[in-house]
Amino acid sequence: MEAVFSEIQGRHASQRFLRHGAVVDYPESPERLQRLLAGVNKAGLDLRQPASFDDAHLAAVHSRRYLDFLANGHAEWMKLPGAFPEIMPSARPVETPSDYPSNILGRAGWHIMDFAGAVSAETWGSVRMSAMSALTAADLVAGGADAAYALCRPPGHHAYGERSGGFCYLNNSAIAAQYLRRAHDRVAILDIDVHHGNGTQGIFYDRGDVLTVSIHADPATYYPFYYGYASQVGAGAGEGFNLNLPVPVRSDDRVWAQALEIARRCIADYRPGALVLALGLDAHEADPLAGGAVTTEGFAVMARMIAEIGLPTVLVQEGGYLSPVLGDNLAAFLTAFRRAR
Ligand SMILES: [Zn+2]
Repeated sequence: MEAVFSEIQGRHASQRFLRHGAVVDYPESPERLQRLLAGVNKAGLDLRQPASFDDAHLAAVHSRRYLDFLANGHAEWMKLPGAFPEIMPSARPVETPSDYPSNILGRAGWHIMDFAGAVSAETWGSVRMSAMSALTAADLVAGGADAAYALCRPPGHHAYGERSGGFCYLNNSAIAAQYLRRAHDRVAILDIDVHHGNGTQGIFYDRGDVLTVSIHADPATYYPFYYGYASQVGAGAGEGFNLNLPVPVRSDDRVWAQALEIARRCIADYRPGALVLALGLDAHEADPLAGGAVTTEGFAVMARMIAEIGLPTVLVQEGGYLSPVLGDNLAAFLTAFRRAR
């Protein structure tokens, strides 16, 4: 199994995060890339640089005006008097109005969902390369590889078709799944990040050709709060093809494995041609976001269970924040996954 990433993905570095109303350091720091890379090396995967894909593959999941905002909005923002060097809106629409604003302040509120979606001068280059890593891994699997790992930092599963938030800008897992649809009639996405994959759910909510399954800490008490409930099952052609499996905050290995068993049965019933695994490691007991109590061995157990599904698999890195064992958790997961194939 090969791992894909570029150092360019480390350039995006937001300066601020709001935690309980206080301005604190941004948890999704570039240091994550180095710790995850240590995990890849420990697991013994070969590294490769992302290939270049046309932005049409991004536009298959995201709106063109959103991609333009991410690519060019910052230069316009910096013309504002006294602008802070990161785009952050001071106004947001309540629902999605019919009129799209031309002003950069209006566009900022349209496209940035929460206080963890700021856009700096380096953001586009990093998030675009992160998506290229996901596309490269998807292309390897579409071309016959059993599995490939995309070290996607910045992560992607909170990003909607035209909204950033939750440290996410381009939805790498969704982009990979959409790419795999060229080779398969049905593709499944399994998300084991401790946070619900709300952006992924939103992108595929009314589609039946991509099954979305997410195991996550209960949104009644944990981010993203409004999405991730079991009652959200998809709509229209997508009804019945979105499965949310919320578990209590701070759940342990046993509870996560039980939810994963339900997820496995749902995926098997769907009979997809390929699987995208949205691989968050932030359910770990030592993660600073404190949403789970999974152990390093617990991740190895889940890796074996997912490998045993037996589908060609694109593993896409999602969350997992700075703890002393972040790299060890990734190494344990990748090693167990490989041994079980
Ligand atoms: Zn997360």
